[in-house]
Amino acid sequence: MFTHSNTQLITLGTAAGPAIRGNENGMASAVVVDGKHYLVDFGLGCVRAAHSAGLRGQDLVAGFITHLHSDHVGELPAYLMWNWGEPVDGFTEPVSIFGPGQDKNRTDGAELAGTEQMLTCILEAFSYDLSIRVTDEARPPMSSLISAHDIDIPVLPDGSGSTCFTVYEDDRVRVSAALVDHPPVFPAFAFRFDTADGSVTFSGDTAESTALIELAQDTDILVHEAVNLDFFTAAGFDPTFINHQRMSHTSPEGAGRVAEASGAQHLVLSHLAGVATQQEWQARAQSTYSGPVTVATSGQTFTVGTPTAATEAVLKSNEVPVEA
Ligand SMILES: [Zn+2]
Repeated sequence: MFTHSNTQLITLGTAAGPAIRGNENGMASAVVVDGKHYLVDFGLGCVRAAHSAGLRGQDLVAGFITHLHSDHVGELPAYLMWNWGEPVDGFTEPVSIFGPGQDKNRTDGAELAGTEQMLTCILEAFSYDLSIRVTDEARPPMSSLISAHDIDIPVLPDGSGSTCFTVYEDDRVRVSAALVDHPPVFPAFAFRFDTADGSVTFSGDTAESTALIELAQDTDILVHEAVNLDFFTAAGFDPTFINHQRMSHTSPEGAGRVAEASGAQHLVLSHLAGVATQQEWQARAQSTYSGPVTVATSGQTFTVGTPTAATEAVLKSNEVPVEA
């Protein structure tokens, strides 16, 4: 379906949030296909991380937001403004942003912004700067380039019908989504990118999810979140907070089970909540998964579809200094 391509995954940031518990950037990833890139989430530090990885706005095609927790969208405004127009090698062609619509499960959901409204508000909030730079620096009007889309969900929340559906497609990539379990947030999406080289699947934030297992069938790389509940318990966090972590996130063993059940070729743990050593994260995931496990750090690059990529990535990850 696609012509030959060169597909890479870059882990721009790997930390859960909005807490800062280490030096890792907040949650953000890039899929690079034939030099064009697609972003998944816009966590703290993604602007610098993308620049350091060599990504420039002029090659940005689209962004995909898994859900509207702030640690996944907090740097979206800055990302757009730091990657806009010729002076910064930014985008001068249309860029699409896909994400959740309004949360109809909440009684006040109709009053709260979904993705389209959030982008409208961002453009309004920064209208002074956005206007000045059009006349003062000959940048194209940003409002004419940003195309925001609330993702349509063609299945019922009770899971009837197919749980996986196509969100976006061009001549390089097809992006599919599944509804995952991140209560009380709704909707929360996992995304799968298919290219000529293979596939990368992102769990988003979720408890162990059967829909994700379906979406990630035989995927080359599964990027899955993980939480270390022991850390929060030992640190004396409030039981309400710990219960949210338990109901809405996945243990490393759970991430391993999902990877095993889906037949994923390589499990990359990212969005790590709570503190543990790399060896601890890895050992716990490997207790339930027979394939290679990488505990991601910010700025790692993985080649998709190369037979030796998984092994090389694991060896590379083992060289990264461990931070407790
Ligand atoms: Zn979340």
